[in-house]
Amino acid sequence: IDVNKFLRKSLLAVAPYQSAREEYVNDGRKMILLDANENPFATAINRYPDPMQLELKTQIAAWKKVPINQIYLSNGSDEFISQIIMGCCEPGVDHIVLVPPTFGMYKVAATLNGVGVVEVPLTEDFQLDVSAILETSNEQSKLLFIPNPNNPTGNSFNRKDIKTLVENFNGLVVLDEAYVEFAEAKSILPELAKHPNLMVCQTLSKAQGMAGVRLGMAFAHAELILFLNKIKAPYNINSLTQMSVEFALRHIDWFDEKSRLICEARARLFESLKKVSGITAYPSAANFILFRVPAGTGDSVHDDLQRQGVLVKNLNGAHPLLTDSLRVTVSTSLENATFVDALNDLLG
Ligand SMILES: *Cc1c(COP(=O)(O)O)cnc(C)c1O
Repeated sequence: IDVNKFLRKSLLAVAPYQSAREEYVNDGRKMILLDANENPFATAINRYPDPMQLELKTQIAAWKKVPINQIYLSNGSDEFISQIIMGCCEPGVDHIVLVPPTFGMYKVAATLNGVGVVEVPLTEDFQLDVSAILETSNEQSKLLFIPNPNNPTGNSFNRKDIKTLVENFNGLVVLDEAYVEFAEAKSILPELAKHPNLMVCQTLSKAQGMAGVRLGMAFAHAELILFLNKIKAPYNINSLTQMSVEFALRHIDWFDEKSRLICEARARLFESLKKVSGITAYPSAANFILFRVPAGTGDSVHDDLQRQGVLVKNLNGAHPLLTDSLRVTVSTSLENATFVDALNDLLG
């Protein structure tokens, strides 16, 4: 399969910016680095970062069991989302396909790139409408974004539906696994080799608790990764991010344990929410819970909670399936209890 067919024709021949340090091959000799106009007075960050992040990718390759040439690192998943839209879609011609209610960044990135959006809503039970997605798509449908588990509904999609879409969608399917560590359904990564049009993105922002370092990881066919490397800003991952994530990944057990604690807290929070009068809580495979408050009270419950010092995400009005719905992040036992108390005060 020729994966170039998924990419924007006008960018295939683009000559990437040659960053100075790219020709540097560490062959053990001590080199004097006079090629990049850096400041020689060492502060540990006086040099430009490795544009290909080899050391960090080596660690991630071992962690995720994906070869280095199938890994692309981005300044948060946000940057990958924007780059892949820019790289695949001809502005004003092509479009992306979204399955609302969904993560808001996809539409923002498409709009900023002058790329259209076709929306195929989820079914009433928050699942993928596979036949509608395939019927609505055409030659100009270059990307299908599926967050799995989904944000903001919190559920995992049926694996069979995802496979049907990957096998039949005209363009690339981006499976956004930002919350996969919290889900019972495992990552689709082991199946990457089977599907040249599948891209998987994950992030250090949620389960690894490093939203501040801005590191996203995308996994795909080696030629797609090559293309992404060609169109990226040369130094998109800064030195402090590379260093801190290299350190954190040596302590990955600590993060796994924290994810387990969050899943336990999620189960307790879900039970407490169900007991609050007038509330429907939806089961979650992520580190947040979507819940619906009595008809017509979505905005006021959100605002009242805020007055009591608890900020949750108001989704009322965002989509017909989300009327009077709010989304709450699963936090520490203490913060979860404070939130439930506040909610009981309002509705109990
Ligand atoms: C939080 C989230 C991300 C993470 O984005 P970063 O830019 O890596 O912080 C990606 N996708 C979804 C669906 C999310 O909810």
